[in-house]
Amino acid sequence: MSLIGGGMKELLKLAAERSINYLENLDQRSVAPSSAALSRLKELDKPLPDEPTEPEMVLAMLDDIGSPATVASTGGRYYGFVTGGSLPAALAANWLAGAWDQPSDMVIASPIGAKLEEVASRWLLEILSLPVGAGVGLVTGATMANFAGLAAARHAILHKLGWNVESRGLFGAPEISVIVGDEVHVSLLKALSLLGFGRDRVIRVPVDGQGRMRVDALPELSEFTIICIQAGNVNTGAFDPAPEICAAARQAGAWVHVDGAFGLWAAATPTRAQLTAGIEDADSWVLDAHKWLNVPYDSGIVVCRNEAHLRAAMSFSAAYLMIQSEHREPGLYTPEMSRRARGVELWAALLSLGRSGLADLIERSCRYASHFAEGLSAAGYQILNDVVLNQVLVSFGDGETTRKVIGALQDDGTCWCGGTVWQGHTAMRISVSSWATTENDVKQSLNAMVRLAAEHTQ
Ligand SMILES: *Cc1c(COP(=O)(O)O)cnc(C)c1O
Repeated sequence: MSLIGGGMKELLKLAAERSINYLENLDQRSVAPSSAALSRLKELDKPLPDEPTEPEMVLAMLDDIGSPATVASTGGRYYGFVTGGSLPAALAANWLAGAWDQPSDMVIASPIGAKLEEVASRWLLEILSLPVGAGVGLVTGATMANFAGLAAARHAILHKLGWNVESRGLFGAPEISVIVGDEVHVSLLKALSLLGFGRDRVIRVPVDGQGRMRVDALPELSEFTIICIQAGNVNTGAFDPAPEICAAARQAGAWVHVDGAFGLWAAATPTRAQLTAGIEDADSWVLDAHKWLNVPYDSGIVVCRNEAHLRAAMSFSAAYLMIQSEHREPGLYTPEMSRRARGVELWAALLSLGRSGLADLIERSCRYASHFAEGLSAAGYQILNDVVLNQVLVSFGDGETTRKVIGALQDDGTCWCGGTVWQGHTAMRISVSSWATTENDVKQSLNAMVRLAAEHTQ
């Protein structure tokens, strides 16, 4: 009997239709969900019934109640946090991969998942100018990628000292010092805490006005040091000075870990690659594909120069798991065992864009960020950062005024931006990270920002 019997075909067509309908209407609706839509969420919150519910009914409830309650972050006018959309090929691949339902930890469990992961990983190293032959692991996001990269660092340093941290743990182990910039992302601190390094047991390096680590304030490095740098500050988009830091680390034998969740994608463009100069000399790197590569959530990437360190930190074995040593076994590079086949979407996104398409996606986002900065500045509002990438920080006056404008903009629904406090100044953050954003989206959003700001600042 075909699996697709019993109404499954109609159900899947209906799901596709409803999804298409959702995307078609995204442009006309408020980016933030309305309060009416949010208040309907309680209709989903019922006791679990004893009896089954027809799948079509399940889907209808999801779409009728769920879709209006989404944030339209996959559309062209969402500039919150750093949130990419989903490229057409990536979303389509995600649907097909959903039908495949492959666990992607072992070649034998999914030859196609493993192959696409291997190919996409190789393409990524090439396109980002990272070392050929580096180890790549596909994880949920930059938080887990930071975890995996730092676990590899921990392994490498303690291994040098004759301490097998994977079997003996950290109690009684030689000390490793961890250096971070004062602007370190919280996810990296979380990863440090999970690894037993402690989130407060770090040496913090002071930063400059853009959030970059000050080289003149670097503490002494040694071969027992991990120094974590950032490629792309979530507020300003600024990059820590990699050439100087990597040179100092190389001399001391320290490990350099790069959190480049979104900023490292700049390496894929001729016009912004200079921001990432020197970064290829690091030891481990982190990126999010669900950010600027615009694949669906969740999709993060860890890269480790010496594949063996990542594998040593992540490996496992058991007789029933049929690990074939002559193949690249995906599960030997990640904290997870069973996981979905993220390589499918990565491969699809990269193939559909090609080198020029990816460069264009990154460059276009950066250009639109500059349009925002120029437009807001021309309207008399203060831009708080050097707009070097896709991030803009704007102040509409004092903290209270800026917060009011952000609230009004979110309520207005034309677009969505969040707030932040940058070095003591309340600001609105604009992050342009989606293929779906057009020139017209920028114009429309800028008009809304200027109009609402004028209403709140007179
Ligand atoms: C988004 C981000 C993270 C965390 O990424 P997740 O995918 O949410 O785990 C870490 N570092 C930087 C610089 C980021 O922008």
